[in-house]
Amino acid sequence: MLNRKDLLGIRDLSKEEIMMILERAEGMKSIVLGNAPKRNDLNGETMITLFYENSTRTRMAFTAAGKYMGANVLDLGVATSSVKKGETLVDTGITLDRMGTEFMVLRHSMSGAPHLLAKNVKASVINAGDGANEHPTQALLDFYTIYEKKGGFKNLKVTIIGDIAHSRVARSNVFGLTKLGAKVTLAGPGTLTAKSMEALGCTVTTDLKEAVKDADIVMALRIQLERQKGGLFPNLREYSQIYGIDEEIFKYAKEDAILMHPAPVNRGIELMPELIDSGVSVIDEQVTNGVAVRMAILELLREGRA
Ligand code: ASP
Repeated sequence: MLNRKDLLGIRDLSKEEIMMILERAEGMKSIVLGNAPKRNDLNGETMITLFYENSTRTRMAFTAAGKYMGANVLDLGVATSSVKKGETLVDTGITLDRMGTEFMVLRHSMSGAPHLLAKNVKASVINAGDGANEHPTQALLDFYTIYEKKGGFKNLKVTIIGDIAHSRVARSNVFGLTKLGAKVTLAGPGTLTAKSMEALGCTVTTDLKEAVKDADIVMALRIQLERQKGGLFPNLREYSQIYGIDEEIFKYAKEDAILMHPAPVNRGIELMPELIDSGVSVIDEQVTNGVAVRMAILELLREGRA
């Protein structure tokens, strides 16, 4: 069990807690694949998704995970709720709490929003992405995928490429992968790679070839235009000419290297379509693993509460 009410970030999870989630996810995967019966552990419990930012995978994966565990799954529908009348996040949370809610899954453009909600509600709050801060369940599904493909983390070279500065996925991955013993390299244009991230125990470079050389894992990120004020690089075409990952660049990685991306992918910008379709990509498996990992998190948080 996870001895905590909420799951807010990777930064404050121990290596043992991360491994506990990955091991539990292993048992859930056959359920997602339809090879084992669905569960009813969360029978009578309610999980509400509150997405103040767009999402396909994360919201649907949480919805599927909740249903596969037997929970009642509701969606706030932010666009048609009283949020549009100016209700605060905390007031919305307290209202939902009073209806008898065990889990709230929150995505918000403001860093720290899940922490604020968690302090004010009895329900377990799960961070589904807060601004440029963290996206812990994405990172956990990434760790699970790496664990499944490589059998562990020790001394693996994981290279993360793209809009590092605005990426909550990059931050959560760095926090976790360094704890797990991997060597993380971050690469992208100087305006999108924060040299200060070296303080977290990774290498930061603007040189794509050097970054990809001998990598076990190559993880590309989307350019987060919605978080940029503009002017950080000339245009998307120029970005893709220098930092777009194609088959040529991928040859610098280890022979058995895998390609990851949190999605949505901008085909032809950060990743070239022929590389995605060449057999090195595990992007589709990341999606399946995302459901298994979220089932594991729901179960472990519930066990901690019992
Ligand atoms: N889906 C991820 C996120 O919400 C990555 C992305 O949007 O590019 O952060």
